[in-house]
This record gives sequence, structure tokens and C-alpha cells, in this order.
Amino acid sequence: MAKLTKLDDIVSLCKRRGFIFQSSEIYGGLASCYDYGPLGVELKNNVKKAWWKSVVQMRDDVVGLDCSILMHPMVWKSSGHADKFADLIAECKKCNTRTRVDHLKDKEDNNIENASGQDLTNKVCPSCGTIGQFTEPMPFKLMFETQMGANIDDSMTIHLRPETAQGIFANFRNVLDSTRVKVPFGIAQIGKSFRNEVTTKAFIFRTREFEQAELEFFCEPGTDDQWYEHWKEARCKWYTDLGMKKENLRFRDHDPDELAHYAKGCVDVEYKFPFGSGDWQELEGIANRTDYDLRQHQRGMRTLNKWYENDRDLSKISLIDESEDYNKGPLSYFDEQKKERYIPYVIEPSAGMDRSTLAFLVDAYDEEEVRGETRNLLRFHPALAPTKVAIFPLVKKDGMPEIARKIYDNLKKYFNCFYDQKGAVGRRYRRQDEAGTPFCVTVDGQTNEDNTVTVRNRDSMEQTRINADNVLSYMREKLDM
Ligand SMILES: [Zn+2]
Repeated sequence: MAKLTKLDDIVSLCKRRGFIFQSSEIYGGLASCYDYGPLGVELKNNVKKAWWKSVVQMRDDVVGLDCSILMHPMVWKSSGHADKFADLIAECKKCNTRTRVDHLKDKEDNNIENASGQDLTNKVCPSCGTIGQFTEPMPFKLMFETQMGANIDDSMTIHLRPETAQGIFANFRNVLDSTRVKVPFGIAQIGKSFRNEVTTKAFIFRTREFEQAELEFFCEPGTDDQWYEHWKEARCKWYTDLGMKKENLRFRDHDPDELAHYAKGCVDVEYKFPFGSGDWQELEGIANRTDYDLRQHQRGMRTLNKWYENDRDLSKISLIDESEDYNKGPLSYFDEQKKERYIPYVIEPSAGMDRSTLAFLVDAYDEEEVRGETRNLLRFHPALAPTKVAIFPLVKKDGMPEIARKIYDNLKKYFNCFYDQKGAVGRRYRRQDEAGTPFCVTVDGQTNEDNTVTVRNRDSMEQTRINADNVLSYMREKLDM
């Protein structure tokens, strides 16, 4: 029977078998940063490939994109991220909870005070109720910033992107003009994002550097509810199609007060992580962002001159209002059948690739008793397994290594394989179980007699003899690749 998985078991397996390491470990590590080892990089690449296949390759209405991480500063003014620079936070000296100063309430009345009032003597800690015991307010920067350019006159402060989505909105016009896409259609992207979170969380769950897979799906206003439902269903199916257990997945609708002001609806796909006694956490958010982003960028384009005139200082400017005919603006879409112009609505499924990788790891992890011994294994779906087939000679003699090598050299052209001739074959099987390899092929004494090899199945541990010449076609059928 499967034992309850603990996060510690996963962390330990990840390190032992080379899935995930602490970043800069030889220097004591860097908080909340992680590196993917030899098996981990294969697993995460497979998660990304599976997303791309489902969201881009298998669809006729989605195209891909790969934007730069560094973008024009105005992008973040239009998206609203830049103004978060003004956020001030103060820490309660009693309970160490950090709160945005403009969210602190006065003890006399319950009105939310403005951030300009920096006198905190009458403010109440929302966490423990202590009055006036705060550290000096300090600015909290959500975005990492850096200097671009070598010379004083032309260098400027730019930011590491806090989400990949804005690169898609900024390229909406380019994609429309260079392809034959017609609304409804989507633009998909996978890439790194960076957020200087106040708090990070368990292992690779919430890190300050992370990888997102985002789709912005553009549709006609009025059809957005139906596309929202479509993507909700499609994205949930993706996880279960890749073997994630249904009982560990659920949808959680955002309450109206959780929604961003522009969003019409938002739902999280949550996974039951083994933190504590089972903890539902977001893997992916699916949001109806309306026409907000494209309209904001139209305002940003109108504001560009002001940015130049104000020493390229984002904090000195505010976005110019929309023009009255914003629906005909540069980021609008002309519907040739209806002969009308509008700003499309956007449905955005936004998945965390590190979180998904962790969830697939946790979900695949299993321990079972086999003849008095504990067998640890990862029951990965074949599409996600870092190694698809391991090939062994039973012993290092009698021509077995040569035959095994030949099979290995043939198979590795098609999928990621592993050759191992060291140690007892039982131990080699166990190592592959822990790596999540679906099949092992063993060349033994009988191979020389009748040209058959043993194929061992990871999950059932069943062994089948097949002809050595058929190993490739057998694997392609079983792995569906
Ligand atoms: Zn407190």
C-alpha cells in the first residue's frame, strides 16, 4: 500500500538522484533558488514539451513566441507593475508580519489610510492587533532591477520581467501582421520570470526566479465566457492526461474581492501538496482579463513622449487617458466578416512550470514492499519520464555488452536512453525505478541462443521476452512516441 508522501522524502530523493539541488550549495546555498540536475532538467523539459504540444502543436488556433526577458520600461508602466515600486511595507515588531503601509488601519476608525501618512503610531497590526509597534516603512520592490548600457547618459534602469504575458501583448500587432491568424486565436510562451517575493515557500513551490507557461487567447467580446470554460476544461485535462491523480486536483474560483479590478473571472487549478497534512496550492491560474491589457498598452503608446520629456523616469509620469475611439486604436482587431473593429478579450491560462514539475514528482512518487524490501519508484507518465528505456547486459562478458550497446545506439536516436553494465541487475532495476524509467531491456545468456531480450516493466515489474530486432518498434508502441 502506498505510504503518505512527505515533502522531506521528495527533497531527499531529488538530491540523491540528481533531480533538484540547492543553488550555489558549495557556498552554503542561496535562499529559495534551485538548480535542476541531470534527471531534473530532462523531467522539466518534458513537462514544458508536453505543455507546448498540447497548447501549440496540437491546435490550429495557437502560435508560439519567445520574447526577451528585458523589455522597454514603459511596458511595466502600462501593465501596472512599475507603480508597485511605490509600495511601502512596515514590519510589526511583535509578530514580524510585514504589511503594506497603505493597508494599515487606524485604531480610531477603520478607514484605510493613504500611504502618504507615514506616522504609524496609531496603526493596528492586522495580524496580532498590536498598536503602533512598527519598523520604519521601507520600499518593497516586486521587480528586480538592473542598469542597462555602459555610459551614464544612455544607461537606464530596466527590470527583469515579473511575468511573460506582457511580451505577448507587446507583440500582438506583430503576430497579427506577420501571420494569418484570425480571432479567436492564442499566442503561447514559456520562459523565466522574476519576482522579489516578500515570502517564499517550500522547496521549488514559490521561488523568486521561476518559469511560466502562459497563453493569451484573444477572442471576440461576448464569446469570452465560453472560451473561459473551454480553457478551464482543457487545462485540467492536461494534468490528468499526463497521469496526475484526479483526487489531487481541484478548481478554486476566486472570490470577487480576490479578483484584479479588470478581471471578469479567475479560477485556480490546485494540487494537494504534501506540505503539512495536505495543502491545496495553485498550479495554474485561468483568468478572463477582458480587453484590459491591450487597452493599457494603447495608453502606454500615447504616453511614450512624456516618458522622454521626463528624463525617462517612470515615477514622474502617469498614463494618458484612452482616446474616445480606443476601439479603433493601434492594438485593435478588424473582423473582416463582421466588418467591425474591436479590442479582443483575453483568456489567460498561466501555469507554473516549476510547480507542475514538483506536482508531477510528488504525484508519481511511490513506495511499496517487495519481498520484504522497500521499493521507491516514480510512476511517471512515459511522456514525462526523464529516461524512457535503460539497456543492460546481464554480465560484462560473452558478447552481451556488444549486443546491448547496439540496441542502445539504435534506441537513443529516438528517445532518451541509459546504458548501464555496473553491479547486480536487481540493483540496476531499482536505480531505474527511482529515476522513473518505464522500461529496462536486459541482454542475457539466452540472447545468444534465440536473439531474444528481457523487457521489464517499471510499474508491474513483469518481464517479457521479445525479439531483439523488435525492441525499437515495441518501445515506440508502448511509449506512444
Ligand atoms: Zn503583529
